[in-house]
This record gives sequence, C-alpha cells and structure tokens, in this order.
Amino acid sequence: MYRDALVLDGHIDTPLRIADDGIDFGARGTSNHVDLPRMVDGGLDAVFMAAWVDPDVGPDRAFERARDLLSLVQETAAAHADRLVFATTAADVVTAAANERIALLAGVENGDALEERVANVELLYDHGARYLTLTWMHTNALGDAAGDEPVFGGLSPFGESVVDAMNDIGMVIDLSHAAPTTFRDVIERTSHPIVVSHSATEAHGPHPRNVSDDQLRAIAGNGGLIGINFFSDYLAPGSPDPDWTVIVDHIERVVDVAGVEHAALGSDMDGVPRLPSGFHGVEDLPLIAAELERRGQTGQNLHKILGGNWLRVLDQVVKR
Ligand SMILES: [Zn+2]
Repeated sequence: MYRDALVLDGHIDTPLRIADDGIDFGARGTSNHVDLPRMVDGGLDAVFMAAWVDPDVGPDRAFERARDLLSLVQETAAAHADRLVFATTAADVVTAAANERIALLAGVENGDALEERVANVELLYDHGARYLTLTWMHTNALGDAAGDEPVFGGLSPFGESVVDAMNDIGMVIDLSHAAPTTFRDVIERTSHPIVVSHSATEAHGPHPRNVSDDQLRAIAGNGGLIGINFFSDYLAPGSPDPDWTVIVDHIERVVDVAGVEHAALGSDMDGVPRLPSGFHGVEDLPLIAAELERRGQTGQNLHKILGGNWLRVLDQVVKR
C-alpha cells in the first residue's frame, strides 16, 4: 500500500544543512534528518526544500540569499541526476515518479526575501520557487507573524499586493508562521488554495505556531491543506519526549475537523532540533503510513494524506 502511494513532504530545511553545515547529501548521515540514501529507504517521492531566509542576513542580502539557496536545490538535483530531478509542477512530480526519480521542489520561507519589491515575486518564481512562506518568526513587511508583536493587525498593504501577484503568477501562498489575523486576511483575499506547509494542530499542541480548529475549517473552505510538522515542541508542547505516534494524532485531528482532503505532511526535518521519540529521520516515514492505516486511513484516503493533497493544490495553483 505505502509503496504505491506518491509520498510528498511539503517542507524540509536540508538546503541550510548543505549550505551552512557542509552535509553531503549523497551520503548517509547521522547528525541530519534527510539525505538521499535515507530518502530512498523512506520511500519519499517528492519534497519541498525550503530556501529559508534568516533575518540576520540583513535586508539588502535577503533576495540574494533566497536565490542562492534555490540554486543549491537545483544543483543538488543535478549532482544526483540518476536519482533526483528538480521539479516545479504536479505533472513534473508524477513524471519523476514514473522515471524512478525523487522530485525536489523548492519554496522560499520568509517574505523578507522580496526586499519589499513585488517584482521579486516573479524573479523567485523564475528561479524555481513554487511557494512563499509570507512571514517567519518575526512580523515582517508582509504582515504579522504568529507569536510576535502585531504591527498591521494582519496582512500589510504590501502583503496584499504580494498575495495578488502570487495569485496572478500561480505561486502557492504558505501561511505557516503567519499570525491568525494574517491567515484570516489572506484567506479572504486569495482566489487560490493556500497551504500551511509545516505547522501542527492547536487541539493537540497548544503553541502559537499551530492552527486552531477554526483555522482548519477555513483551510477546508479554501480548498488548501496543512502539512503536519514533526517538531516535538509543536506536537506536544511541554512534553520532554513524546512518542512518534503523536504525529499521527495531529494528522487525525485535521482529518476529523477539516476532512481527509486537507491533511498532509510538512515535517520541517533538518530545520528542527528534536523529532519525537522513535522517529529518526526521513527513513522512518513508513511508520507513519502504517499507523495511519492501522487507524483506518486506507486506500485513496491514505494516498491523499501522504502526497495526493499536495499534488492537488500544486495542480490547481501552479501553471509552469
Ligand atoms: Zn518554518
């Protein structure tokens, strides 16, 4: 069952580990969560690699940093062309799987990358990015961030023009890290399905980074999805060492409240310091599939959660 499914993880931070920590992506590692040998072991078919822009790079280097990390994703795919291929569309991912290649997609995390110029949306798109996470941990020029002090009461006027540009181009809007007010403003404004690429549910994990049941229902109304984050502190705040099955608890919550069309994976692996007990990295993804099946998510429902929902949103939003 699992091997028949197209498995897509909507957010990993591996580009940073390659760029800053010198991880060899082609070699099996122990200090990281994702590399090529372990991707193959885990049966992963496609993954969004995040080009995360650290606010510390400074306002005039943010675009360059995003572009460099996007190039790194493309170079990583090219360096392992026998097993990997860079992808931008749902059709690319399906073709890659048919050719027994793992598809690397790319998203930019943190709207700082735009350097407050709407025209940079299209430049990032042309460089291969197919989603943009509007904010990161800090409220930025696009709008208020979850857990930070509000400045705009939601999306800023610049953020509105970015949403419109992304709608026009066909770029997926990612609302992980967005404040509930920003989330609300984007849902009201956008004409396309949104994603919350790497968050968890407030019902099982009260944390500012997680989304409420009301937000889950809004995601369902919008036709979007939430990729469940594997970070222990989001899955089980305050718990020193939660069991990995807590990941499946969060997925089930999305299914129960929003419906099976809106639950997905967005592990945040290589971007988080701690995964739950018993889950070591991408090689352990089959555990989650088996536990979902054990809890009754079988057949097409399982396929939707593991990757089908991501493909649906990509297909609806991304044109090229
Ligand atoms: Zn993040």
